[in-house]
Amino acid sequence: NRYITIKNQIEGEPKESNFELRTLALDISVDPGSNDIIVKNLYVSIDPYQLNRMKSFSSSQKAIGFAAAITPGETVDAYGVAKVVASGNPEFEKDDLVVGLITWGEYSVLKEGSMFRKLDPLGFPLSYQVGILGFSGLTAYGGFFEVCKPKKGEKVFVSAASGSVGNLVGQYAKLFGCYVVGCAGTKEKVALLKEKLGFDDAFNYKEESDLKSTLKKYFPDGIDIYFDNVGAEMLEAAVSNMNTFGRVAVCGVISEYTDAGKRAAPDMLDVIYKRIKIQGFLAADQMNVYSDFLSTTTDHLRTGKLHAIEDISHGLESVPSAFIGLFRGHNTGKKIVKIADD
Ligand code: NDP
Repeated sequence: NRYITIKNQIEGEPKESNFELRTLALDISVDPGSNDIIVKNLYVSIDPYQLNRMKSFSSSQKAIGFAAAITPGETVDAYGVAKVVASGNPEFEKDDLVVGLITWGEYSVLKEGSMFRKLDPLGFPLSYQVGILGFSGLTAYGGFFEVCKPKKGEKVFVSAASGSVGNLVGQYAKLFGCYVVGCAGTKEKVALLKEKLGFDDAFNYKEESDLKSTLKKYFPDGIDIYFDNVGAEMLEAAVSNMNTFGRVAVCGVISEYTDAGKRAAPDMLDVIYKRIKIQGFLAADQMNVYSDFLSTTTDHLRTGKLHAIEDISHGLESVPSAFIGLFRGHNTGKKIVKIADD
């Protein structure tokens, strides 16, 4: 079994030299009493939060309480779609499709009690299960509707808006009837938001030197909801432009993941006087809306009202560059690696 691991704990920006491909013999058979399942990995999700698990033990523990630190040499667990090749579990048969926690490798051994389930793709491409119909979609849906509690006509700002979660937040917000502006890191991404995904407006944050006045220009009447994927200066600028009783959903702070010294310092007097609610959340908290999310999203996909934006690399070897690319803005939409054919 070939798999990708880290060579060393990572601080700062991840680089190709932090990763290596290793091989470990794997017997593709299971003891019938074991309940283990061996799967061939097909699609694996590439996610920014994994970097926080790769940091040195103390800082990663501090940064991330819900997923254990990854140590050099270990397999990296990640959400994905796989096909059963051998099963000791009576509920799974060879060739069944599963979705859940697999690995950055060719095969994974799924133990009883770990997070996976049988997959019915509902007629959609398998890759959708790691993006729009998987955790990205649930994060966007739950984060927007449950955490931000939108009202029709409210003004919404989304950062990393062409990314996996961001583009869906913008699309859900538009379908719900909000005014939506997104920011992203290239002119092609800005064009995608405005021309294909229906955002009311969008801008390239890399071309702006004063984010507070930029946001003032795009939101002359203030921001009601900020869906934060990046943290730091963008969060500070958004808070200074929020309306009274505005809501900030802190989904991620990617600009802080690669820079240990960088932390958002929003003006807390603004937060008090404007009674702004700032709430962090995890996708896993949103399981109560999972069935609403799935039915709404599949309906909108079938009628063409929602677009699935995917960015797929091919082959296990491409995992490190796919992952590193997240922190350099190389991806547009959900970053996925296709490891093997279905
Ligand atoms: P994306 O698909 O959005 O990929 C990351 C994008 O972030 C890049 O394409 C890049 O786009 C942007 N970016 C990278 N570095 C910076 C930077 N320094 N400043 C501003 N933008 C940057 O990833 P996801 O949609 O998977 O994740 C988005 C955010 O949501 C992340 O912070 C992630 O950790 C978080 N998240 C949180 C979850 C939760 O449960 N709370 C679940 C899933 C994700 P650009 O070209 O625009 O710079």
